[in-house]
Amino acid sequence: MKSTRLITAIVCLCLAISTKAQSDYFFPQEARFDPKIPSPEKYLGYEIGTLHTRHDAIVGYMRELARLSNRAKLDTIGETYEHRQLVVLTVTTPENLNNLEEIRQEHLKLVDPTADNGDLNAQKSIVLLGYNVHGNEPSSSEAAMLTAYYYVAGLHAEVTNALEEGVIMIDPAFNPDGRDRHSTWANTYKGDPMVSDPVDAEHNEMWPRGRTNHYWYDLNRDWLPLAHVESQARIEFYHKWYPNVVTDFHEMGTNSTYFFEPTKPYGSENPVVPRDNYDGLNNLFAEYFHEALDEIGSLYFTKEAYDNSYPGYGSTYPDIHGALGLVFEQASSRGHIQDSDMGKVAFAFTIKNHLTSSLATVRAAVGEKPTLLNHMSNYFETAVDEGNQAGGGWVFGDQADDTRNQAFLDLLLRHRIKTYALDESISLGGKQFEAGNAFYVPNGQKQYRMVRTMFEQVTQFHDSIFYDASSWTAALTYNMPYERYAGKADLNGAELTFDDLTSGYESVPNARYAYLIEWDEYYAPKALNYLLERGLYVNAAFKEFSLETHEGLKEFSYGTLMIPVARQEVDADLVHAFVEEATDLAGIKAYAANTGYSTTGIDLGSRNFRTIRQPKALMVIGGSTSSYEAGEVWHLLDSKVGMPITKVWEDNLGRVDWSKYNTLVLVSGYYGSLGENTINRIKQWVREGGTVITIRNATSWAVSSKFVNEEFADRPEFDNPDRMDYATAGDVRGSTAIGGSMYMADIDITHPLGFGYTRRDLPVYRNHSIFLKPSKDPFSTVVKYTENPLLSGYVKQQNLEKLGGTASLIVSGIGRGNVIMFADNPNFRGMWYGTNKLFLNALFFGNLF
Ligand SMILES: [Zn+2]
Repeated sequence: MKSTRLITAIVCLCLAISTKAQSDYFFPQEARFDPKIPSPEKYLGYEIGTLHTRHDAIVGYMRELARLSNRAKLDTIGETYEHRQLVVLTVTTPENLNNLEEIRQEHLKLVDPTADNGDLNAQKSIVLLGYNVHGNEPSSSEAAMLTAYYYVAGLHAEVTNALEEGVIMIDPAFNPDGRDRHSTWANTYKGDPMVSDPVDAEHNEMWPRGRTNHYWYDLNRDWLPLAHVESQARIEFYHKWYPNVVTDFHEMGTNSTYFFEPTKPYGSENPVVPRDNYDGLNNLFAEYFHEALDEIGSLYFTKEAYDNSYPGYGSTYPDIHGALGLVFEQASSRGHIQDSDMGKVAFAFTIKNHLTSSLATVRAAVGEKPTLLNHMSNYFETAVDEGNQAGGGWVFGDQADDTRNQAFLDLLLRHRIKTYALDESISLGGKQFEAGNAFYVPNGQKQYRMVRTMFEQVTQFHDSIFYDASSWTAALTYNMPYERYAGKADLNGAELTFDDLTSGYESVPNARYAYLIEWDEYYAPKALNYLLERGLYVNAAFKEFSLETHEGLKEFSYGTLMIPVARQEVDADLVHAFVEEATDLAGIKAYAANTGYSTTGIDLGSRNFRTIRQPKALMVIGGSTSSYEAGEVWHLLDSKVGMPITKVWEDNLGRVDWSKYNTLVLVSGYYGSLGENTINRIKQWVREGGTVITIRNATSWAVSSKFVNEEFADRPEFDNPDRMDYATAGDVRGSTAIGGSMYMADIDITHPLGFGYTRRDLPVYRNHSIFLKPSKDPFSTVVKYTENPLLSGYVKQQNLEKLGGTASLIVSGIGRGNVIMFADNPNFRGMWYGTNKLFLNALFFGNLF
């Protein structure tokens, strides 16, 4: 007993000393803390920077602060796929905390141009400190705990003032699943003594690494597509508060220093954001950042890098909502300590820099409160003015695919864009929009700049280099027919809410002969998968037909699913029950037919109905493969189809029993490393009827390795002079890349891979330089670029000229099997609802032709 007490005493003493030392290291000298509030190290039992803190411990600490202090409360705003909590700690004075709803209502007047702003002096500066969107950039979540401690426990004047003038919201981890993946890695390989050698395992995570979320998506691209639960929860919270300042903390290469905004002028700015954001606010805040970093002697740079144009970044979305979004980048220790060109980079040091910027952000947000509040108020006023000046709005809607309409409407509503159902049909730009499947977004609304983001096609740019994408027109990614409506009068119709988003499912009566399900609905594959999993025989129509159904004579297009009642292995009642369940699940309808005799076209017993095999899919992951593309396939099948896919490490391919699978998915990667034996085995399996689906670089590999007998198209030549100045090299090289732009392609809607499409126009996304020649077989180029294909985004003229007429999707037969080659990624970022169907056609119909 005695010795235990002694040890406890020693431990406490050590903690007390280390806490003091830690405080001195991390915080400004004048900081004074309430001893009743535990510091992070006291709560965790180790010094910040000596271990990577697990997400549950971070949440635990935040919860403890909220429990002990009347300055703080903790909200759970959602959870990740792996059930980690998404939390926000709100810190302000006890009085403000008691009046929080009132403060919010007052604040929202700034967002509402019709409301009187009231007394701005009495309002608060709302600061949302967001951390760690990239899981393997871990310093910022540790800084979040120190920041929380600083404002919850701080007794000195700076803190008191900040809490009176501001409401500080701390979201300690935007991406907890990725964070824990990386943290576990770094802790697992940490040595004692620590190893700073960059080649040590601690500093080199395994595929897929911790940057991304559960489905290997980059959440710092997801603020626009909202493909993921984390972003959906975050946006919901965002629109509850409309913060004035939002931070987004990152890490970059170990040999770098520190970056804060302003970013590179013009090229990296979003075209719809008002200039005073960049010219005014950014420069104003930069004063606070450089002062704080000068004080601690940290090297930094500004103005020459980092992109702020894509609306799906955490630092750009706020700029399009009257706030100031801020990106920070810290040289990474990637692990606990790592050698760099300028000595060792310690984890604690990286944490300290992000902490320093966090405190400077709050200082600036409070110090510049009147400017920020006015900026927000002006932002939404001018948005409405500009929208009214532009007049009219946008009419859209797909006549054939209601589930895709509903998905697009859901996206618009999540972004709080006012949207109306049209009462009357309208014809615009040669397109017919029928009431019931037609919608209207007026320009004259406070989200006008988000409206532009959704619909405008941009082809003029200040700059030619894009860190990420130069185009994000959401309506194109959904393959949504849409037209600018320039009329003076607003169109008639009811404003839509989430409650108006309905399922297209309708109960179908018992059929005597067969059930029919149209393939042009986005969620039809979900219904098909359900039926195949229950062992039903389902056939796809290879020709059009019309037939009497329970709703009268109905025309059916290519790809229509036909489920005969007889010749199933279950009785008619069970067939009916399965069809009901499948269509309910997918939110679509089925038609009952009591005859197989068509009015026009093929009968239901025709050889032009082909029986669909249940896909048994395998995807290669690890090694050189793209975790992003693999994650997109995985997420698509999980969330949109409900179909499992076996993910096999590249190294384990030799152990695969190929007879168990009929479809192999190869995402971008360098498959030459698989070795001749494995490649020959795969080829043999294709000859016997297997389907290989290749995406982007995998297509490039299939062509260049002669896995298929297809060819590349001519690549563009850039007639640069023989000698140029070194300083221009980056710009010259950058301008020839194709960095994320949208193009119009022509799709053969009679080909099984084109089933479910009702128009030959199809927008595709390109962010690569693979120029694919149309197939030698005239029937095998399913999607081909039009002659002058640019829809939106930057592309150099020479690239554009060569792109016209090249292939986007071709098929090459080998024996009884097919290799289906996508030059362009059909599943990009979970946003390409328009091209997902191509991939799913390859999966379900890949062996039927
Ligand atoms: Zn990052």
